[in-house]
Formats: sequence, C-alpha cells, structure tokens
Amino acid sequence: MVKGLKKIENPLKPDLLAVLEHLNSRKSLPEIETLNYERQSQGYIGEDKIRRLLLEHLDVKPLALFDFRFMANNDECQIDCLLLFQNECVLIEVKNYSGEYVYRDAEIFFNGSMKRLYSQPFPQVARAKVLLGDLFRLLGIRINISEKIVFINDKFYLYEVPGNLPVFYNATLDRFLRELNDKRCDLSDYHFKIAAKLKSVRLKNSVYERIPEYEYDTIQKGIPCVNCSNWMTKLTDKSRKHLVCASCDKLETIDDAILRMVREYNLLFKDRKITSAAIYDWTNSIISQKVIRNILIKHLNPVGTTRDRHYIILFLR
Ligand SMILES: [Zn+2]
Repeated sequence: MVKGLKKIENPLKPDLLAVLEHLNSRKSLPEIETLNYERQSQGYIGEDKIRRLLLEHLDVKPLALFDFRFMANNDECQIDCLLLFQNECVLIEVKNYSGEYVYRDAEIFFNGSMKRLYSQPFPQVARAKVLLGDLFRLLGIRINISEKIVFINDKFYLYEVPGNLPVFYNATLDRFLRELNDKRCDLSDYHFKIAAKLKSVRLKNSVYERIPEYEYDTIQKGIPCVNCSNWMTKLTDKSRKHLVCASCDKLETIDDAILRMVREYNLLFKDRKITSAAIYDWTNSIISQKVIRNILIKHLNPVGTTRDRHYIILFLR
C-alpha cells in the first residue's frame, strides 16, 4: 500500500492567493490584481467549506484530492475536489456565487438583466470531465467519472434548472451527502495506486497565474491583524505577551504573530535570509530585536556563525 496518502487531504491555500492576501494588506493593488484576489479568495472559501462538510459528514472514506490541477491534451485543468470511491471517481466543482440567476441551455444568466455570466460552471465541468478522462486513459486508469456541481452559498438561487442535472445547493446538501454516503467504498491497493499516479502529475501552480511584481521597499511594514488586516499594536498594560488589533480587538501572542510574520516574509521574499534584524524591520520595530531573536531560536533552525546567523523554517505553513 502506498504510504503517506491521507484519506481526506486538506487543501493548502495556494501560494498565489497567500501572496495576494499579504500584498493586499500592505499596499494598494491595481484593480486587476484586486479582482483576481477576490476571485481566488471566493474560490478558496468554497473549497474550504466543502472540505469541512466532507470531513464532518461523510461516513464513507473515499480518497480525496482537493484543488487538483493537471495537464491533458496540452490543456490545463483544475478540479476543486476529486473523490475516489470503489467503482467511481466523483468530480466536484464548488461555486460560492451569491445572488439570483437563471439557467438556459447549460449556461447561467443574471436574473433580471439576463446578462451572461463571464465564467460558466456547466461548460467548465463538462470540459474538466473530458480532460480528466483523457488523463485517465493516458495513465492507464480505468474507473468511471461522474460529476457534481455544488453552489454552496446559502444566498444563491438558480431558476429553471432541469431536474436531472447533478446540481446541489446549500438547501440540498443533505441529499448531496446521502448520495456520496450510498456509494460503495471498499478501497484496495488499486485505488491507492490511482491516487499516487494522480498526485505524481499534479501541477502546483497554474501557468496562467501571474504573481504581481512587488519590491521590499514599497511595501508597508508592520503586523497586520489576522482577522481584519489592520495593524496590530503592543498592549500597554502589564500583559506584555500579546499584541492587539485596534480595529477588531483580536489578541495574538507575540510568539504567534512573529512566526506568522516569518512565514509571510519567507513566502513574499524567498531569496532573503530570515534574520532577527530582517524580521525586526519587517514588523516595523514594534517588538524588540532581542525578543524576536529568542522566538526565532525557539521555533526555527539557526544556520551559520553568530556574525552571519540566519534561520530556516522547518515547520509547515
Ligand atoms: Zn483586527
């Protein structure tokens, strides 16, 4: 049996989304990047919701791959979630749209204006299914593929949908789960091998994704709040182990905040060394360099001599 493959795997926040999120709280992004950030962010929220739903409510334990990106027929494709059952691979597309829409001939239009949606989930899923079939043939995988489209937002309405489509809404998630729970799920070596093959051809980043350009000097320094992105400050009273957000009152220990800033700094500036001086500057000198050094020593791996000491991250983000 292939080791190290979890039955349900957590979707990691994609690097691009994390970078955009950090940049967004530290500089004003051009409109196109802001739109890209919002789109990515909504997509991730949808994926995260479905992951939690499956983790909490699925009685059977299929193999799961989230945010599966691959190439087939010289075409790139991304699938929100793949569930591998005994006799079937279920492709799940999650949409976090809100508002009222109308269905016409496999396309979605805004209710009222009847303006066509820019990105169309039904053709998108049909294309994904074809490309996944191509990939399976290429890899010698023989298993049926079926699809489900989940509009997970409880403020979403789609009118005039034919009843035979594999579409689910927030109000019909019970039926969605029931249909999955009814599937046979007696997995063997064969299924683990399929999952291993799929993981081996997985693309980490999209060729279409472009990370915006940014420079260290033009980015605002400080510690943004994890909830609302406003700047955190030191507490003035005797509790000196915490930072507080002036906007939402979120408290965070200095250790947690510094480690969060180290991960952020490391993601945004992969070529720069992590030193206490660098993190002191990155966090806008709110915390003393001595305290930062102690946190780095405690949680990271020091490398080099005292004069040229820097640190390496061994924990996962
Ligand atoms: Zn806050």
